[in-house]
Amino acid sequence: MAVYNTPTYISGRSLFGPYLDDRVCCVALLMTLAQVKQSPNDLYFVFTTQEEVGLRGAMTAAYALDPDYAVVADVTDADDLPGEGHTGTARLGGGAAIKVMDSSVICHPRMVETLRDLARAEKLRWQMDVMEDGGTDGGVIHKTRAGVCTGGVSVPCRYIHSPQESVALSDVEDCAALLTAFAQKELPPLRQERV
Ligand SMILES: [Zn+2]
Repeated sequence: MAVYNTPTYISGRSLFGPYLDDRVCCVALLMTLAQVKQSPNDLYFVFTTQEEVGLRGAMTAAYALDPDYAVVADVTDADDLPGEGHTGTARLGGGAAIKVMDSSVICHPRMVETLRDLARAEKLRWQMDVMEDGGTDGGVIHKTRAGVCTGGVSVPCRYIHSPQESVALSDVEDCAALLTAFAQKELPPLRQERV
């Protein structure tokens, strides 16, 4: 096994380091856990394994939990540098990126609308996220059993999978706040619709 042995550090309001994908979203989930006061929903926080090699942990976790809704927390490509191929829409510091689609999932419009409405109501910075290349655990979760209503909240990240990935701390905070708002929102069960 080999790993990048580069330092992780904060400069201004930016965080640099290897493996922010997807450790930074573990942090966002921990922040969410700390911020959720009460929820009418059954909540499960899953820290999946082996996303990068075939969404394996998400596949078994989603099967076991059989959720009505799923929100995937991952990084998304901050495609905001000059000269890039521009295959995505997110930019660093633009706020929580609400996934519309990537190469693995087209998110349910209800989830996109719900997350967008919550971001507006909470006065968070947010942006729509379309990513042509790459995917997340949502790729298998939305196809689990009879289907799971799946959305995504992403932290924009530059230089993904390099020894020096970079994210804006404000985006992490916005993602945690949006995940908190979603966790606290009463959502109708979908079992009957699925039958
Ligand atoms: Zn990755």
